[in-house]
Amino acid sequence: MRKYERVLKLGNNLTNYYKHKRPYKFKFKVSGCPNDCMNAIERADMAIIGTWRDDMKVDQEEVKAFVAKNGSKYVVDNVISRCPTQALSLNDDNTLAVDNRNCVRCMHCINVMTKALSPGDDKGVTILMGGKRTLKIGDLMGTVVVPFMKLDTEEDYERITEIAEETIDFFAENALEHERTGEMIERIGLVNFLEGIGLEVDPNMISEPRQSSYVRIDTWDEEADKWVERKAEEKAA
Ligand code: SF4
Repeated sequence: MRKYERVLKLGNNLTNYYKHKRPYKFKFKVSGCPNDCMNAIERADMAIIGTWRDDMKVDQEEVKAFVAKNGSKYVVDNVISRCPTQALSLNDDNTLAVDNRNCVRCMHCINVMTKALSPGDDKGVTILMGGKRTLKIGDLMGTVVVPFMKLDTEEDYERITEIAEETIDFFAENALEHERTGEMIERIGLVNFLEGIGLEVDPNMISEPRQSSYVRIDTWDEEADKWVERKAEEKAA
């Protein structure tokens, strides 16, 4: 199946699911890559965004050609220094060093150096919940609730539909009249929301990258043990 067909299929699967009368609207948006041209993070109750988890691909010859054409000052001023996590540096031989562990997949460098850089091969999606424009409270960006999942097999599609169903059911039962998901999450707390939709708390879930993790720290050790156990089980499977 082609990439755009997958996105359409996913959108159809999700928007066809409306079992309950809901207290207010619930929007899905699907963006193929972290550029998020759909504005899913800002607008959707459930945002599904294509991403990758291995290293980005770098064609060093194309990097050198880009530097030769535009000059190293241009590259430093417009690519290197605009990386939000300072994950890039230009080597003396005009090749590019990427600190992939610190790359937050913002797409900036890839958008500028289109021939030299591209996303990695291990692709999947990130799921965020709770984005919305102003209503009862001000604008909210979606919060990461599934840091990464593959979206290749029928089972993967079923899993994502399951998460959507759980979320809409929980929303239908717990939101106040005329309340969006993000507002409900603010009111009841993210940990309660996650428990309600059956997602395990994970340290990779973040509401503000590089600033604060929203996971509860009063039970941090237990949560960390659970996470380590889950990872070991996944590895053994
Ligand atoms: S994608 Fe964004 S965060 Fe990652 S290296 Fe490029 S500019 Fe930096």
